[in-house]
Amino acid sequence: MSATGQSRLRVLIAGGGVAGLEAALALRDLAADRVEITMLAPEPEFVYRPLRVTEPFASSRARHYALDEIARELELELVRGSFGSLDAARRTVRTEAGAQLHYDALLLALGARPQRRFAHALTLDERQLDEQLHGLVQDVEAGYVRKLAFIEPAQMPWPLPIYELALMTARRAWEMSAEVSITVVTPEEGPLAVFGATASEAVQGLLEEHGVLVISSAHCETPAPGQVALGPGGRVLHVERVVALPELAGPATPGVPKHDLHGFIPIDDHCRVPGLEHVYAAGDATEFPVKHGALAAQQADAAAASIAALAGAPVTPTPFEPVIYGTLLGGDRPLYMRARLAGDRALSSEVGDEPTWSPQAKIVARYLAPYLEARAASR
Ligand SMILES: Cc1cc2nc3c(=O)[nH]c(=O)nc-3n(C[C@H](O)[C@H](O)[C@H](O)COP(=O)(O)OP(=O)(O)OC[C@H]3O[C@@H](n4cnc5c(N)ncnc54)[C@H](O)[C@@H]3O)c2cc1C
Repeated sequence: MSATGQSRLRVLIAGGGVAGLEAALALRDLAADRVEITMLAPEPEFVYRPLRVTEPFASSRARHYALDEIARELELELVRGSFGSLDAARRTVRTEAGAQLHYDALLLALGARPQRRFAHALTLDERQLDEQLHGLVQDVEAGYVRKLAFIEPAQMPWPLPIYELALMTARRAWEMSAEVSITVVTPEEGPLAVFGATASEAVQGLLEEHGVLVISSAHCETPAPGQVALGPGGRVLHVERVVALPELAGPATPGVPKHDLHGFIPIDDHCRVPGLEHVYAAGDATEFPVKHGALAAQQADAAAASIAALAGAPVTPTPFEPVIYGTLLGGDRPLYMRARLAGDRALSSEVGDEPTWSPQAKIVARYLAPYLEARAASR
């Protein structure tokens, strides 16, 4: 029972990443004790992924947050386990271990599944980025590797990391007086075109300053070690090492409709899953074409507002209106970018040396960013 004497709405959040945590914080703010929240997550920790790219350069480590501490603070029940299947008619989720979790409203915040796309490339695994790239960075420093390509699959994964890694590698080589030629191959029309033309031009300038060449609007294959075949046209780049971002697939959730063959979850403007009552989805798991933390958080906010209204809170649900925020690391100073989006097209484009938002978080999220900042300040 809530303080108002109403029975609480049982909300199940599947996933303890950006979207899951943002939704939990938003629900506590909007619906307070009108909701009883359970979070299902396989991992004990939330890892702040954007800073993983700095680990091979030993400049800082990605922060880890214990989910059970967050659960205590937010008064939510944490269930360690993996989503197995959904029985929407019975409003029940079965975990892989066979437990049944009942809900009145369900938020699927399961993230995307990274998959290897290229046979002859080092596919980045963010959980072991340091181990994967440390040796390569040392080889660049020592001058053993002089030609390097960073490549992306046709369906672009997270936008920022490949440019950050290219810039950081170029800077490290310059600091060590090592010569290296770095090429980024991207399906985008220009570097970080998702942030719009103005931002993309600034990123292009930054990459040029650091001697990084970008081949855009290109699809690539790796026919043999050290070779990157570019399409259209068929030109082949010959390099000493090829580093690739993984391709992303949806979470493949039995009982949940799939948007396409990649298994992403379809959603409407309020992040409801069409055809399933009181089921919502947010973040990288959804069909939205750009996978990014700030967008995951905005979707989580839209879903949380709808769920809060369902719980009887005086909230008018607002639709998901995507605005992408990015902080590009790797240059002399970070570059701050923002754009309103229609799908993966930018409708506006801002870029500058100072953020126009606060707090100055790498993942811009209405609730999660100030929450994590406050936790960092209290330690
Ligand atoms: C190296 C790197 C750098 C990035 N930099 C930025 C950046 O600077 N800014 C930015 O905004 N975004 C950035 N991103 C993207 C951002 O991290 C993601 O878009 C964001 O984490 C997506 O949030 P999510 O909640 O959808 O998924 P995730 O954060 O991946 O969370 C998914 C959650 O679901 C859980 N889960 C998975 N499978 C199951 C299951 N079967 N059952 C239950 N739970 C499950 C996972 O354990 C996890 O807790 C970066 C990503 C990477 C990899």
